[in-house]
Amino acid sequence: MFERGHFINGRETPGISGRYSEIMDPTKGVAQGRVALASIDEVDAAVASAVAAFPSWSSVNPQRRARVMFKFKDLLEKDMENLARLISAEHGKVLADARGDVQRGLEVIEFACGIPHLQKGEYTESAGTGIDVYSMRQPLGVGVGITPFNFPAMIPMWMFGVAIACGNTFICKPSERDPSAPLRLAELLLEAGAPEGVLNVLNGDKEAVEALIAHRDVSAVSFVGSSDIAQSIYSACAARGKRVQAFGGAKNHLIVLPDADLENAANQLIGGAFGSAGERCMATPVAVPVGDDTAEKLIDLLKPRIEKLKIGHPFDDDSDVGPLVSRQHLDRVRGYIDMGVREGADLVVDGREMKLQGHEDGYYLGGSLFDRVTPDMTSYKDEIFGPVLQVVRAPDFETAVRLPSEHQYGNGVAIFTRNGAAAREFAARVNVGMVGVNIPIPVPLSFYSFGGWKRSGFGDTNQHGSEGVRFWTKMKTVTQRWPNDVMESSYAMPIMD
Ligand code: NAD
Repeated sequence: MFERGHFINGRETPGISGRYSEIMDPTKGVAQGRVALASIDEVDAAVASAVAAFPSWSSVNPQRRARVMFKFKDLLEKDMENLARLISAEHGKVLADARGDVQRGLEVIEFACGIPHLQKGEYTESAGTGIDVYSMRQPLGVGVGITPFNFPAMIPMWMFGVAIACGNTFICKPSERDPSAPLRLAELLLEAGAPEGVLNVLNGDKEAVEALIAHRDVSAVSFVGSSDIAQSIYSACAARGKRVQAFGGAKNHLIVLPDADLENAANQLIGGAFGSAGERCMATPVAVPVGDDTAEKLIDLLKPRIEKLKIGHPFDDDSDVGPLVSRQHLDRVRGYIDMGVREGADLVVDGREMKLQGHEDGYYLGGSLFDRVTPDMTSYKDEIFGPVLQVVRAPDFETAVRLPSEHQYGNGVAIFTRNGAAAREFAARVNVGMVGVNIPIPVPLSFYSFGGWKRSGFGDTNQHGSEGVRFWTKMKTVTQRWPNDVMESSYAMPIMD
């Protein structure tokens, strides 16, 4: 049994609240450690550390901030295997997938290495007679990031990578289910040269989150997690006048047009639906074949592939998929499979009874496939977040555009086709934030911005890329004149011409 505390002011600090949450081993269903849950005093200590670090960090020149990011990237590469193992052991995703979690975060750090260029302002010489105008992007102060369990490395780095490069100081409040990777990231950033207090990691639950977002010294909050909590955090921060972005759940559709290479579509769909046991906000849990003929052929291709999924220990190189994150989540996903049956969908592959020999108490679940799911079913409307693929048959292209467009979530969507014009029209019309064309998981690269629409994203700026820099800075505009002579008063609205 191990214990995780916080990382405040440059050192790992044990919890003092006396409250803890168990860190489970999802392969065995038993606790492997515990994590401290912060009290209000610990929230105050983390904020005080970030406040104290802000004046000097925000005045470090951007090329020096970039150098810290370069060094951090180097340390991340060296520590990749260790980080991946920390993630797999607590989350349950297989090692190759955990490496991807670190890699996609590392790419945001690579993006942040360009901060001297990214944070440049604008300048107009002689905008009026003898008047120059320039703008600058200044850091906000103390930023807070509240992150979900499913990407314990990538999502913290989406946030603090850009925020800190911009000159902010930061408090990351990771998921209490897998806190070890974020704590390790904080150690590595310190080693890379970020001063004490620039990145703090505070573990905790609702109590810590509420105290953080209410704290008068916190300027901005970035949240990623489930939609109801995202919406309440968005409202609470907006009511306090804080800058906020809050990303929520998802139910991503993958459209298969009749002209698609069905073999390729099936292969990509399987990876998108079952990778990471379906616990990805950019997973593809809904397939929409257009036309009954496409549907029949697709299901014939999917069924044997799902039955052959290698579900096993996350450290075993042969495993495609590991266990789910918790007993509660396993029960919830099983409950949705029961619900789909009750609602009248055809259960083509049933993963409920799958047991992994020697790991019977682990949170393992086989892959499931439903056909003839309809939009009125609750099991379609809700996010399941597990290894369950639902096929909703669409009679035509119009229905295929309408289904994801009218769904409550609008994170990602994909279309598989050989028809460029159809793909182009789909991408332009669909009411969803991120679109893949013959790509199942269109997670934008770090130099573009990540963000869903509707109940998948509250607020109006996305993560990383140019939107990330905009979120973590405020623009100041200076209009200047250096007159040689005394100027007369003017009572009319000044015009520059
Ligand atoms: P969650 O909403 O339970 O938790 C997210 C964070 O909020 C955690 O740090 C948690 O400690 C905290 N939290 C939990 N309950 C809270 C409360 N009542 N008040 C304040 N804070 C609270 O989400 P999760 O189960 O960790 O992650 C899975 C969810 O995250 C899924 O819905 C998934 O789609 C979503 N997600 C979205 C994106 C995206 O970019 N849109 C990315 C990854 C995950």
